[in-house]
Amino acid sequence: MTFPAQLPIPSEVLKIAKKLEDAGYETWCVGGAIRDNLLGLANHDFDLTTSAPPAEVQKVFKRTVPVGIEHGTVAVLDANNQPHEVTTFRKDIQTDGRHAVVEFGVSLMDDLARRDFTINAIAYHPITHEWRDPFQGEQDLGKKLIRSVGDPNWRFQEDYLRILRALRFSARFEFRIHARTLEAAKANAQGLAQLSAERVRDEWFKGLQTAVRPSKLVALWRDVGATRIWLPELGAGSTEHGAVDKLPRDPVLISAYLAKDPASLLTRLKCSNKDIERGRTIGLWRDKYPDAKDPAAIRRWLAAVGESADDLLTLLPAPRSVLPAVMKVRAANPPLVLKDLAVKGDDLIAAGVRPGPTPSRIWRGVHVVRCNNRVATGGFLPQWRCCPRFGARWLPRRTPNATYRHTTFPFW
Ligand code: ATP
Ligand code: MG
Repeated sequence: MTFPAQLPIPSEVLKIAKKLEDAGYETWCVGGAIRDNLLGLANHDFDLTTSAPPAEVQKVFKRTVPVGIEHGTVAVLDANNQPHEVTTFRKDIQTDGRHAVVEFGVSLMDDLARRDFTINAIAYHPITHEWRDPFQGEQDLGKKLIRSVGDPNWRFQEDYLRILRALRFSARFEFRIHARTLEAAKANAQGLAQLSAERVRDEWFKGLQTAVRPSKLVALWRDVGATRIWLPELGAGSTEHGAVDKLPRDPVLISAYLAKDPASLLTRLKCSNKDIERGRTIGLWRDKYPDAKDPAAIRRWLAAVGESADDLLTLLPAPRSVLPAVMKVRAANPPLVLKDLAVKGDDLIAAGVRPGPTPSRIWRGVHVVRCNNRVATGGFLPQWRCCPRFGARWLPRRTPNATYRHTTFPFW
């Protein structure tokens, strides 16, 4: 691979670089966008690195956001309010595996030396079109190789997240990890325990979204020992590999599919309550699909799994005969959740039921009966009667005894 004479730098990025250069500060494009463009992949998100200290960047541009000012990163807003990250040349002078104390006032070479992998440490000058590649990143791109800049043990100990980044880039570009880098990743895997759950989650999710084959990412996480620390619910299994690659690139769904106990995995990764509940429902119901020949069972199942029905249908194992049956039931648009019922608690009170817990119980009862398709919801309200079998509870008069005797009332 050789460097192209020029890279297509977006005009807004070029304007920012020119302004900094005119103010007397050396400014280069670096990082992921350079790597991706050299690989022929679209990426217009060019990061700039400059000799200007963060306070100078804030002075040169009217509209900035201090997105990571302690690490020298300022986002400059362009005419369309799009942010472009400008980071001051920096060097990490003290690290503890998770955080770094940085020093500014260093050279471009120092800045490239603190970057994680050779393929991410290439700089391009957007005005003079010069290239700087002190660690032979361009050769590694040609060789399809992920290799640490400098001593991999030391670099991973500075920031353990780099181990997970190596796995992500390897799965994304289908690159091999250099032997010494991989060995150091394995040797330092225990340090991953020091990372925050949020950083690990972001890496894992981004990895699943960008991997050519998510199964490859899972295999790498297992091989290095990262699953043992952060995703123990994945176990040691390897059978699911083919299937996981066919799933939609939804990291919560994939994680839930892979985990023995999805809710516990998603809780450890500090996912949102919504995602944890989504995982919990998948875990609870993924081996309890309804009988395709029993529409009432399908309605009860749809009512019980709620919003997770699509997830469960996506994960439905072959033969997928229940799928058309579910579609058919859905097409009939039955009332599956309480709020879908035409009858409300107020209607019951208006029909003469005493206020208190009774109307709500009846309402829930109607829903269950409705799911079982025994009665219509509209039009029968005035005809309630006491059901001796359920004490003082009320049931619709039109329901034959045989029906409610065999009806389960999970909501009561
Ligand atoms: P992506 O496509 O995921 O955005 P990227 O390489 O652009 O890939 P970023 O997280 O956006 O990744 O970081 C931009 C650049 O900053 C990287 O290319 C790399 O040079 C440097 N970098 C990011 N994280 C680290 C880290 N933990 N250690 C060292 N350098 C890093
Ligand atoms: Mg990036």
